[in-house]
Amino acid sequence: MHFKLTDEIIKLSESDLWNSAKMEWNFEYAYQSEDLQTCLCGHYPIKNICVIENTINKNSTEVGNCCVNKFLGIEEGNKIFVSIKRLKIDPEKSMSPEVLDYLFRKKVITDFENKFYSDTIRKRKMSSKQLEIRKRINKKLITFTSYESNSSLSRINLVLKWSEQNESFDRTFINSLKKSFERNGKLSDKQSTALENIIKKWGIE
Ligand SMILES: [Zn+2]
Repeated sequence: MHFKLTDEIIKLSESDLWNSAKMEWNFEYAYQSEDLQTCLCGHYPIKNICVIENTINKNSTEVGNCCVNKFLGIEEGNKIFVSIKRLKIDPEKSMSPEVLDYLFRKKVITDFENKFYSDTIRKRKMSSKQLEIRKRINKKLITFTSYESNSSLSRINLVLKWSEQNESFDRTFINSLKKSFERNGKLSDKQSTALENIIKKWGIE
């Protein structure tokens, strides 16, 4: 199975050699799929998916978390999925500091939320108000790693990538959609419709 994975990754890389090709890839996002998907290695079914990006040619692809970890040595996904699992069982627990940092880097949480959470990350006894804030931040992780959010984000990125080759296209609106997505972890129905209309109108694939 893993030869199929290395072949697929090499095809999307600049280098033709696995050892250097795999160094070109960085972790971007992790999400849990609702429909079962097939990994690049051919393994089916997979649910925990990582989106990785090639740092040189900006190609991106989705790989099952186990393969990302085993063959590309990328560990971020593991940490995220462990935290998701824990919070789905008990939403009053804490995510790991690495996952908190991931949300902060992706601008899903504010400075205040980031500071509050790290200051109270090991606290077992919290006031009800503090607990509400922790749960609200936990929910942001669950929303941000949902299938729905990921598909909106990949649609936004599709348009942004396409627009690099199409200078006549005004990116103002799509940039504002991306900012709004980063702030809320999702798009409103109205925003999703507008995004799909752009994709259709310009024939973006
Ligand atoms: Zn795989």
